[in-house]
Amino acid sequence: MSALQITNNGQQTTGGTTSGLQLQLPALFAKRQGVSGETPNNQQPGDISLLVTSHDKDFRAKQLIKDAVMENDFLKREFEKGSYVIREGDAKCAFIAVCWTGSHLYVSAEGELEVIQGDRVLGRMGPGKAFGELAILYNCTRTASIKAVTSAKVWALDRRVFQQVMKKTGLQRIDDNLKFLRSVPLFERLTTDHMSKIADVLEVEFYPAGTYIVRQGGRGDNFFIIASGRVQITQRLPGKLEEEEVRVLENGDYFGEQALLKEECRSANVIALPPGVECLTLGRDSFIQLIGDLSELRGKTYDDESRGFSSGSSSVSSRPGDSGIPVQLISEYAQVRLADLDVVATLGIGGFGRVELVQCAYDRSLTFALKCLKKQHIVNTLQQEHIYSEKNIMMSCRSPFIARLYNTYRDNKYVYMLMEACLGGELWTILRDRGHFDDGATLFYTACVIEAFDYLHSRNIIYRDLKPENLLLDSHGYVKLVDFGFSKLLGVTSKTWTFCGTPEYVAPEIILNKGHDRAVDYWSLGILIFELLTGTPPFTSPDPMKTYNIILKGIDQIEFPRIVNRAAQALIKRLCREVPAERLGYQRGGIDDIKKHRWFQVFDWDGLSNRTLAAPITPVVRGPADSSNFDTYPKEKESPPDELSGWDVDFQLCN
Ligand code: ATP
Ligand code: MG
Repeated sequence: MSALQITNNGQQTTGGTTSGLQLQLPALFAKRQGVSGETPNNQQPGDISLLVTSHDKDFRAKQLIKDAVMENDFLKREFEKGSYVIREGDAKCAFIAVCWTGSHLYVSAEGELEVIQGDRVLGRMGPGKAFGELAILYNCTRTASIKAVTSAKVWALDRRVFQQVMKKTGLQRIDDNLKFLRSVPLFERLTTDHMSKIADVLEVEFYPAGTYIVRQGGRGDNFFIIASGRVQITQRLPGKLEEEEVRVLENGDYFGEQALLKEECRSANVIALPPGVECLTLGRDSFIQLIGDLSELRGKTYDDESRGFSSGSSSVSSRPGDSGIPVQLISEYAQVRLADLDVVATLGIGGFGRVELVQCAYDRSLTFALKCLKKQHIVNTLQQEHIYSEKNIMMSCRSPFIARLYNTYRDNKYVYMLMEACLGGELWTILRDRGHFDDGATLFYTACVIEAFDYLHSRNIIYRDLKPENLLLDSHGYVKLVDFGFSKLLGVTSKTWTFCGTPEYVAPEIILNKGHDRAVDYWSLGILIFELLTGTPPFTSPDPMKTYNIILKGIDQIEFPRIVNRAAQALIKRLCREVPAERLGYQRGGIDDIKKHRWFQVFDWDGLSNRTLAAPITPVVRGPADSSNFDTYPKEKESPPDELSGWDVDFQLCN
């Protein structure tokens, strides 16, 4: 079966579909909306075989598609050697003009193509170029068109198929690595959790026979495990011109650790023997974090000392995995009925409806925030599973840094969530009014978020939607996290693939559809610190697609304003590492590593947790029904349509 199908639509059109995804172009000072792909259970048949049409295709066409995929920046990263080969297809049409709908990845096969936006020609493409790759990841509408200026042939890859293939190959890669690692004596006593982390960051490299994989005297940045083939270790001894063979290493052996452990230059050469060698490699930081303190490595001595190359043998280092399943507790306001509530004011408007400040008719001192979500919109955008996640996770949380969810309801048009009202307003509003925060205030707000993340991560929940819009102040000025629409319960070693987050805050592995886990929260923490200190997130553009491109270039491309002191800069860079496993918080010390970072050196963590520490800003809240710390919103004019499919049975019925 093939993941490719021909697009032979002779019409030139623009526009396309946006099912399952909302994108918002950020205007200046506009609140940002979350973006999400369809939730898995509601996807159209997810089996690749159901989605793929097979087409015959000649060798040259195959090669062109493969080359285009490999040459392309986004795809190249994803398709490791040998892991993905595009097959088959049919190229019968002579002339094709392609609409950039965002639902396909196109590879030109023959002829010249022109990319047009309005009247402007943005560029021309010859055979073997891939285009539309970002659009394919996000299912968003593009306004550019591709026109064939000569007769042309184009291969198209369906977005869903593409995502399935990415997910499958990603999982397969980790699984293959894991299987192999289990066979390596060095790792034989590691926990599955520890081994999965290593499996996740390993890269596969192939070295043709004769290649110097490591050169004596060179800088060492990688650790290597031989997956197949053999290498020859040679050394040039002082005063000698010739290299001497020291030994030969084979499958399961490893080399390169000495230069990393001792920060020394390479002490020998490693040369690939025929027919070539496949190695699994690990970068310096991942090595230090995941392997560097294995007693086997630390205690290793070589009979030919200083050589730094070794055959595998047994080792020990184990760490128990954490667990933490949310417990559903009975809420103290479970008896409050929807009919008992009167709307006082609107607190916020989001992607799926409004959040109203409501007052209890029988006790005016009782107020809540009631999130009202339009059911039809949820169903149209396939977000049912996210809504259930939000309900179940929020309901189970008991942390002073997370807004409580007390009860839920449903009627024909809406589902409702009855929450604790945080009346100090959004951190976003204060940031907008003040421009930016000083170091002290940023430390405080970030610390509140860290406490919330600590609680969530210890229960295996990832949050995925950090931004000032989702941070509310209570009446004491302490921050509480709201909006659990993208949060997810995830096993310690599991990953998830649904695109989630807000463009400026999404981590590279989400953009690249590599599968992600709680490391995305540490990334977003770095973005938050930057935004709070400067007023703007580091990666930003009016066009989300451009934002994604800037994010992929990395934090080192960002010039930090002087207002961000060195310690804060250092922390942001440690959080926004491209490789998730290298992010502070994700490593062995866990989130405590962040708390211990020098930026927090003088921060009073105890004062924060026992709430004796004074907040930087104490909002004025004149009573339980005071909504003055929120912006004002016009009344809702239209009533949404009924939605009666019944997906919401777990919400309390109140028609
Ligand atoms: P989604 O990202 O799922 O579309 P949303 O952004 O529509 O969600 P929320 O972020 O939960 O929904 O709420 C929107 C706004 O409503 C928040 O930014 C905040 O201003 C306000 N709000 C939400 N929950 C509360 C609360 N518990 N107390 C006070 N205000 C709240
Ligand atoms: Mg929100």
